[in-house]
Amino acid sequence: RHYTKQDIYRLVEEEDVEFIRLQFTDIFGNLKNVAVTTSQLGKVLDNECMFDGSSIEGYARIEESDMYLYPELDTFEIFPWRPQQGKVARFLCDVYKPDGTPFEGDPRNILKKVVKEAEQLGYTFDVGPECEFFLFDLKENGEPTNSSKERGGYFDVGPLDSGENARREMVLTLEDMGFEIESSHHEVAPAQHEIDFKYDDAVKTADNIMTFRMAVRTIAKRHGLHATFMPKPKYGINGSGMHINMSIKKDGKNIFDNPEGKLGLSEDAYHFIAGLMKHMEGITAITNPIVNSYKRLVPGYEAPVYIAWSATSRSPLIRIPSSRGINTRVELRSPDPAANPYLALAVCLAAGLDGIKNKLTPPESVDKNIVAMTKEEMEQCGIKYLPANLKEATIALEQNEFIKNVLGNYIFTKYVQAKKEEWNQYIIQVSQWEIDQYLHRI
Ligand code: GLU
Ligand code: MG
Ligand code: MG
Repeated sequence: RHYTKQDIYRLVEEEDVEFIRLQFTDIFGNLKNVAVTTSQLGKVLDNECMFDGSSIEGYARIEESDMYLYPELDTFEIFPWRPQQGKVARFLCDVYKPDGTPFEGDPRNILKKVVKEAEQLGYTFDVGPECEFFLFDLKENGEPTNSSKERGGYFDVGPLDSGENARREMVLTLEDMGFEIESSHHEVAPAQHEIDFKYDDAVKTADNIMTFRMAVRTIAKRHGLHATFMPKPKYGINGSGMHINMSIKKDGKNIFDNPEGKLGLSEDAYHFIAGLMKHMEGITAITNPIVNSYKRLVPGYEAPVYIAWSATSRSPLIRIPSSRGINTRVELRSPDPAANPYLALAVCLAAGLDGIKNKLTPPESVDKNIVAMTKEEMEQCGIKYLPANLKEATIALEQNEFIKNVLGNYIFTKYVQAKKEEWNQYIIQVSQWEIDQYLHRI
């Protein structure tokens, strides 16, 4: 779907749109917006809307606080949950500096750069995410909790699945907003859900993830529930992942597919896997960005712990789903839904592309249960662990020159600094676990 300026003028008129939200994403993946009335539409469409970026996290640099929002016309969407008279619509925007060049701190711009580089080789990236989340109860005063009376499990149906009404409305709302929803289901943990939408090119998918989170949270609230994308909101049950399925098209053909190749995969597919694995430790701070992310990446909860790939087993870091042909893809299972989707896709795709460009070879696939292996066996197979916590991940990111280049100096520096501070804050806290363990005995 492509909109021209004329289309937008017409839609705003016909649909009785009163407000326009100009949305963008900060470095840490938070959706931000500024609202204008339609009297400003001309300015909006001429890229003349400005905001003061100095209080946006990661943007602060007093001397360049004036930023311009360039709306992406194709992202025009009316919020189905706002009043239907005097409607509210939005654009996702690129952030530009007053001199007319893209702002280095705009994550959407970083992903676009990686996409452009691939385009020079004739490649289009396609990405399909699997977004998991919890629906928890609200306290009487409206505060979110991390509990629910619900006891549903994998693929369960109502009345056990008490989130089904909320999920139904989420799906219908997203469809209203142009999503093609492929399926939705109750996930493994009580109160955990997943909604899958169709893959698209990388930038569109990252845009979709941002829209998805906003819609899911909004609809949950209308059902008296709190939707959270926190990777591990509760000890002892599965956390929420955001698996990403990646493929590359060239001249309309999926270049990972090769019926003659080993496992039906092309050489490029193997190079892509190798690139991902090579940079895995460095990209983890981006795909798993918060302290809590690492509480998910532990054995026993269907989340990856080791750096390995497999075409047959279900739980490794990198998996090749069974479909071939145009749907041949590489699934990376470590990312979680706290990640900034623009940066996460940028680093994953760039890492895979690095593998293709340099014809890297991946290690042997590991098709047995790694958890059951001895340390020696693991060493023999060259299997390493993912970073164990945000500190290790941040150090690995700092050491990866390639990923640093992908992110650019601006985002890289702000990101590493913020993650170090986050870790330093976390590590001096006294947790409930410590109180329970030690207070009575020591
Ligand atoms: N919730 C699991 C996770 O963290 C994934 C379950 C699945 O395979 O869908 O990552
Ligand atoms: Mg799932
Ligand atoms: Mg999956």
